[in-house]
Amino acid sequence: MGVHLNWVVGPGVSETDTNYYDVVIAGGGITGLTLAAALRRTALRIAIVDQNQAAAVTDEYALRVSAINHHALQLFEAVGAIEAMVRLRVSPFREMHVWDSTGVGQIHFDSAELGLDTLGYIIENNVIQHALLAVIDQTDTIDCLCPETIAALDVQQRLKRVDLVGGKSLTARLVVGADGANSFVRQAMGIELLRQPYQQQAIVCTVATEYDHQQTAWQCFSPAGPLAFLPLANGQCSIVWSLDQPEAENILALDQAAFEARLEQAFEYRLGSVKAVSPTAMFPLGHGHIENYVQPGLALIGDAAHTIHPLAGQGANLGISDAACLADVVSEALQSRRQWSALHTLRKYERRRKGANRLMEVSMTAFKQLFGNNNPFLAELRNTGLNLVDRATPVKQALIKQALGKI
Ligand SMILES: Cc1cc2nc3c(=O)[nH]c(=O)nc-3n(C[C@H](O)[C@H](O)[C@H](O)COP(=O)(O)OP(=O)(O)OC[C@H]3O[C@@H](n4cnc5c(N)ncnc54)[C@H](O)[C@@H]3O)c2cc1C
Repeated sequence: MGVHLNWVVGPGVSETDTNYYDVVIAGGGITGLTLAAALRRTALRIAIVDQNQAAAVTDEYALRVSAINHHALQLFEAVGAIEAMVRLRVSPFREMHVWDSTGVGQIHFDSAELGLDTLGYIIENNVIQHALLAVIDQTDTIDCLCPETIAALDVQQRLKRVDLVGGKSLTARLVVGADGANSFVRQAMGIELLRQPYQQQAIVCTVATEYDHQQTAWQCFSPAGPLAFLPLANGQCSIVWSLDQPEAENILALDQAAFEARLEQAFEYRLGSVKAVSPTAMFPLGHGHIENYVQPGLALIGDAAHTIHPLAGQGANLGISDAACLADVVSEALQSRRQWSALHTLRKYERRRKGANRLMEVSMTAFKQLFGNNNPFLAELRNTGLNLVDRATPVKQALIKQALGKI
């Protein structure tokens, strides 16, 4: 597109100053890098600041993986990152099987029934980052300041000032907080995320299983918490096991054989015996959503604006959609020569994304409550419900459309 307006940027600052950027993106995680890649053709000068560099991709699968849905894959394709992702390593999954450990309720989704090749890809978070960085590296208008930590952000002036721990000060017309659940930018904007802890931790680990995973994403719901086995292209699975804090700590304290035995039992031996092939790690879980994503010259995307339970694997997908939407809104304003960083422009992004993000947060919290409960009435309800939905084609299709990111 290459449309760039020559604004008077502010007293004492010109567009040619090396520390002036049109956009500073705080956070080079999945959402921050998606935004930068989606803005690559605007000719805006962009800086990405992250306190860490993306972890190297090695022969071993990384512990953090995400189930990326069709909509997000299309957005990656649009920014030119999908080929690099596939080259690095992706694991397509074609079916999804969900069941309730307290009864006989189950639901099964098959991509073939929907006329699709896959339901999505399991991709390591660092693979996504490296593929997006490869796109960004080809763009001379984007600088990656990583590793660099944001020490202070002055949000008062029209032109924002971003002070880095390394001593540099950047000025920017638009600062985007893509800096995760404990967002520094959000705090500088004076916005409190009422993040409600689930008092649960997610244990993640890579495992080898006795039986083939059949390119199926498996999820077992029990009152202790959901347990997912996500299929990897080398035949192993990446697990996400959400448990109440004390139980998670007990499980992590077990020796390897006892850990594997507990995991096999919790997974009802669906894939036979299980062998841990990586270390384990634990992540605290919570959910929250802010009212206002934007202020003049400031916007929040991804986990900085909303966090949800990973049980349906949607957090990163929502963040990717936020990033693409903000890039669209800014690009549209640039093309029609409107003020691309003004509040009325940024509000368009907020209006387009808030409903979908809110719906997902509320649905995941309701799901978590319905399935994380020993009440026999609720157990009966969810078992009957799962089986009914499994047989009711229109409801099932509506559910799968939501999971694929198509509604
Ligand atoms: C166990 C688990 C499993 C999950 N599985 C899935 C899944 O299958 N599918 C899915 O869609 N989602 C999943 N999610 C959710 C997903 O991981 C998150 O929603 C997503 O990673 C958020 O991306 P983000 O870029 O918004 O934030 P983050 O990934 O948190 O990135 C924020 C970045 O900002 C940087 N940063 C923070 N503060 C500063 C600062 N002051 N200065 C400089 N840099 C800073 C950090 O270093 C980081 O790189 C899962 C989450 C968990 C916990």
